[in-house]
Amino acid sequence: MIDLRSDTVTRPTPAMRRAIAEAEVGDDVFADDPTVRTLEQETAEALGKPAGLYVSSGTMANAVALMASAGSGDEVYLHAHSHIMTHEQGGVAVLTRALPRIFDEPEGVPRAETLQRWVHGSADIHRAQPRLICLENTLGGNVIPISEQTRVTDFAAENGLRLHLDGARLWNAAAASNVSAAELARGADTVSVCFSKGLGAPVGSAVVGDIETIARARRARKLLGGGMRQVGIIAAGALHALRHHRERLPEDHERARELAAAFADITGLNASAATNMVFVRTAANEAESLRQALADHGVGCTTMGSELLRFVVHLDVTDDDIVAASTAMGRATQAR
Ligand SMILES: *Cc1c(COP(=O)(O)O)cnc(C)c1O
Repeated sequence: MIDLRSDTVTRPTPAMRRAIAEAEVGDDVFADDPTVRTLEQETAEALGKPAGLYVSSGTMANAVALMASAGSGDEVYLHAHSHIMTHEQGGVAVLTRALPRIFDEPEGVPRAETLQRWVHGSADIHRAQPRLICLENTLGGNVIPISEQTRVTDFAAENGLRLHLDGARLWNAAAASNVSAAELARGADTVSVCFSKGLGAPVGSAVVGDIETIARARRARKLLGGGMRQVGIIAAGALHALRHHRERLPEDHERARELAAAFADITGLNASAATNMVFVRTAANEAESLRQALADHGVGCTTMGSELLRFVVHLDVTDDDIVAASTAMGRATQAR
């Protein structure tokens, strides 16, 4: 199967497997694992922050970052379609007991008026305390323009708010916009990044930030049962990915553009690429039947609602796969 369901489906490369096999390890709860420490340092450096923390998943990265910045009854401002809002079982409510407030601007960042309205009146005794803004970049594959993100990080700084950036695919945003990951991370108190999506590692994410914040996140990770022992075994895969797989991300973006163009040519359907993702709009309620037909032709993708399909290009997708997926799309749409 040509598996385009997600960029999480990659298998470790032979070089990555060697790095994993040869990893130096220690007990990371005692801060004794040299591979984890190196990974945390290099990730923090890549994002221009003093400290980093390796965690098991992107969901845990967001959870510990939120726990480090917000508490019971604090208002946390989130995009309606953000992963934290829609894909983490309400962890923001369960784990921090914060009050989520929603913005849903299509640009992925709140407009100036939205932000003003949110903080306005926080001296009012009836109001919960605005505390934290969360942004996500990329959001649905789309890169948030750096100028827009900076406008929001400046607003947060001016108003004494904290800012968390869910950068599970920040590496893709950096590659697509020719802006360094550190530049995209600037102004954020915490940034979470994923090693097991575009970078192709088997396990893990990281949170970076200042030393005190990351110390709080480390405590939160232990609370969640995320203190792991000889975890350098998996961190070695993440470190290999961080060092060697960032510079190849433009290849994924190029293949996504090729796939979108081929889909549009073959089917006449509306297909568009955003970083490493391709979205295909189907007729009303046809997404699931087309997904099934594609699966029957050996191509995996996911539905996003009843009329949208998502295809994600990643490390294990070749040029031949792009051609084969396009051919399969032609057959699947003909058969309908
Ligand atoms: C995938 C993803 C996560 C969560 O990562 P998991 O490792 O699957 O828990 C968080 N945020 C965003 C934006 C993601 O795409």
